[in-house]
Amino acid sequence: MQFTAKKSLGQNFLQDQEVARWIGDQVQPDDAPLVVEIGPGQGALTHFLLGRPKKLVLVEKDDELADALRIRFKDRTDVELRREDATRLDMRPWYKHGGVKVVGNLPYSVGSEILRVMTTPPTPVTCAVFMLQKEVCQRLAATIDSDSYGALSILVQADWNVEFLRVVGPEVFIPRPRVDSAVIRMTPRKPGSLPVCDRAIFHRLVRAGFSQRRKQLKNLLPEVPHGGWEALASSLKASLTTRAEELTLAQWVDMARWYEGRRDADKGQKASEMFDVVNDANEVIGQKTRGEVHATGLKHRAVHVFVFNKHGDVYLQKRSHLKDVHPLVWDSSAAGHLDVGESYAACALREGKEELGIDLEMTTKAADIPATERTGMEFVELHTAHHNGPMRYAPDEIDCGEWFKPAVVGEWVNTRPQDFATGFIECWRAWEAANP
Ligand code: SAM
Repeated sequence: MQFTAKKSLGQNFLQDQEVARWIGDQVQPDDAPLVVEIGPGQGALTHFLLGRPKKLVLVEKDDELADALRIRFKDRTDVELRREDATRLDMRPWYKHGGVKVVGNLPYSVGSEILRVMTTPPTPVTCAVFMLQKEVCQRLAATIDSDSYGALSILVQADWNVEFLRVVGPEVFIPRPRVDSAVIRMTPRKPGSLPVCDRAIFHRLVRAGFSQRRKQLKNLLPEVPHGGWEALASSLKASLTTRAEELTLAQWVDMARWYEGRRDADKGQKASEMFDVVNDANEVIGQKTRGEVHATGLKHRAVHVFVFNKHGDVYLQKRSHLKDVHPLVWDSSAAGHLDVGESYAACALREGKEELGIDLEMTTKAADIPATERTGMEFVELHTAHHNGPMRYAPDEIDCGEWFKPAVVGEWVNTRPQDFATGFIECWRAWEAANP
């Protein structure tokens, strides 16, 4: 039966085998644990992806096309067809694969939205190759010297390196689109390549600054704290009449830091912080600095908090690259050392406030975990608490955070323990044992 392309689903099917093969190669699918193709349609790109990654997931919204693909790949155990709207994908179960590569000739209608959903942190995606309208690709990849440079360039490039790979003309599609397409590749920006800042403030400032492109920034920004616009412009080494498009990504980050009052260069925890040192029975025997405690492996105390929401999902944080131990791995909602003389319960509330920006009314002790190398010689009390968010996490402590179904965490911990702080795994096992 003849298939009629649906304009509402942005169906322009690629006919050129060489272009399809080339796009597939750009995501470097060979031996990847998981490649996801968005909008496989009639399988033009799929053909060149088959058999290359360990697993290939196809996400297609169109019932008719999805049925045809399901029949075509019914005998392949390495291909999974999902008849789903890619703007509503739940990618959290994919973390357990350890890096997801995404590729797609995206439908024009919702291409930008699919890109946003798949690449807004936190995301398991580690490489994305997308074909979109040329003009959108230009904006995504633009730097300050380009006419296409704007809010989209800055917001996306804060997290991603964007490469503009090539232009693809309308003649290689049926039906022909009205405009040129292009292909971009996105890979995560190296952690620490920009100073940290509060993401919500950064987004708000960029949006406000670009809301009226021709206007000077001083008339668009919210009231500038700490000495007003003159002081901020001078610290950015920008002129008083600067417009949004005249500031680089790094200057926008510095502006967000200015609003936060974040003056000092990023640094990890203070080696001079004081902790109680304890004996094998977890009794206090003295006080030492953080530096001494960690360097000599002395036993001390810490609390971990699992925050659950009303759906029973648990909030996990990815530790900042600035952490001196276990940087950039996933951890409990909040965790930290007890201050000298502090109780576990008081520390749990304090960490909720300091790390997540939330006021927990109370926490409940869920487990005692003995001090071992896996906990970093910490006697840990695991506490649980309830909060529905939103979290306003400290960007120098936490890279990002996400709510997860406990079953998803359980599978992920089993398949990729290297993605987690070892102390968290001890806590998770204790929690699972108590909540079978
Ligand atoms: N990959 C095929 C190719 O290159 O010939 C098809 C590309 S076509 C531009 C876009 C595809 O995305 C279509 O198959 C369309 O049905 C599908 N699609 C449209 N909206 C979608 C959505 N929200 N989620 C998943 N797929 C979608």
